[in-house]
Amino acid sequence: MSDNTRHGDVKRRDFVKMLGGLGAGFGVSGFTMLANREKAFASDGNDEPDIRSKLNTIDSPIQVDEKRYERFNQKNLAYNLLSRETNQNCVMKMFQKGVTYWKSGQTGYEIPEMDPEDARTMMAFMWGANSMNVITGAFGEGEENKGALSWTGEIDFVDEHFNHHFPPPTMTDPAKLTRLVKQMARLSGADLVGICRFNKKWIYSEVQRNPMVPDQPITKKITFEDVDQPKELADRLIIPSDVSHAVVMGYEQARLLGQTSPSILNMAASGLGYSRMGFSSVTLANYIRAQGYWAIPCKNGVGPSVPFAIEAGLGQDGRSGLLITPEFGPNVRLDKVLTNMPLVPDKPIDLGVYEFCNYCKKCARECPSKAISMADRTWEGPTPMSMVGVYKWYNDHRKCLSFWMENGNNCGNCVAVCPFTKGDFWTHKLTEWTIKNIPVADGLWLTLDDAFHYGERRDANEVLRDVDITPYGIEKDKFAKSKL
Ligand code: SF4
Ligand code: SF4
Repeated sequence: MSDNTRHGDVKRRDFVKMLGGLGAGFGVSGFTMLANREKAFASDGNDEPDIRSKLNTIDSPIQVDEKRYERFNQKNLAYNLLSRETNQNCVMKMFQKGVTYWKSGQTGYEIPEMDPEDARTMMAFMWGANSMNVITGAFGEGEENKGALSWTGEIDFVDEHFNHHFPPPTMTDPAKLTRLVKQMARLSGADLVGICRFNKKWIYSEVQRNPMVPDQPITKKITFEDVDQPKELADRLIIPSDVSHAVVMGYEQARLLGQTSPSILNMAASGLGYSRMGFSSVTLANYIRAQGYWAIPCKNGVGPSVPFAIEAGLGQDGRSGLLITPEFGPNVRLDKVLTNMPLVPDKPIDLGVYEFCNYCKKCARECPSKAISMADRTWEGPTPMSMVGVYKWYNDHRKCLSFWMENGNNCGNCVAVCPFTKGDFWTHKLTEWTIKNIPVADGLWLTLDDAFHYGERRDANEVLRDVDITPYGIEKDKFAKSKL
């Protein structure tokens, strides 16, 4: 069996020695704090303190310029806009390219080392891994109120006598409902679950009903009206104006598979994440309806998930544009369910991501398409594929997706290399604590991160054949137990 921690050969005493060598920039007090922290995490990692309980909370986690901000139109999402620009369904183009590669005995940019036979069979596995994703409304964007993502629960696979026969709510206590909803979210597979007050800003102004179709987009507005249940009419989708909360869920992805990015194994990992997300989203929405409230399962659809997740306290947005969580870094898929159920919101958290990303830039360095900015946060992105008026790091989605189409499958280098992805090992906790408490040391951590080989690309063959893979490839036993 191969060690699946890659950095497991770095001894703790060596690390502390290393710190000693680099100590000049810290000062004595910094080292005293580090030493105490090292002692606190010196055990085998199973008795870790809850890292969330150490974090500060923030009242307004997202800065918005109200004069410039307007709700984003889904027809300008990268997949949709690039399909129009190139007059082809860019996702199908990506898959076709992947098939061309393995048929010709090569496998794209990814893996000169990967046997074409493995690439072919893993492509079949990847399609299977996405099956529950497809059944539950692939990705969610453009799939609003379709099939399993029904906004009312009218789904073919639910008994007709069950649909629409839920009594009015009997339970109204927000604390009790919050406890139950979080229990059910976890029972259906969510690794993280947080709740935020509903924020209309993060709802698409329009959805594209023919996603990724390279001709004229067919769109419908999303409006808010005084209706009892979510509705779809010929010209619009209606969210009832009593919408009050979003339940936001995070699903860890197979980190080791992701470290082979941009290989087909990485795409299998994201497919598994999407499938878990779809199952959970639909299941939780049904549970909420049975409690007498309405629920809209979204997956990626209805609005971008990252701002919901920030407001629900799951994490902060990083330079890569992805949500960084304390438990899994950016290695999570995100989903949300909107509802009128009275719930208790969680507090947004500050884990020092902005300070760390200012120094780190590792994702930008390792991005094969140079889609990630090396510059400071700003108020608008380089393409119309992003919203404007939000202060954050913006990617060039056109460059990113164009690379995927050339590569023959997706990419996750920005997830794999991020220091926050590395897992819940003692050094990881020490890093997180130091980022938060000794910002001056941030530059040092990038050096150390490279020195530890964190996020280094892994050989796909090694991962397939030599590593003992856990269920879904996730590492719950080694990662932090989330207290969210
Ligand atoms: S997915 Fe790959 S190409 Fe896209 S931004 Fe991330 S690293 Fe760059
Ligand atoms: S790789 Fe570095 S810069 Fe990029 S998101 Fe992660 S911490 Fe931030």
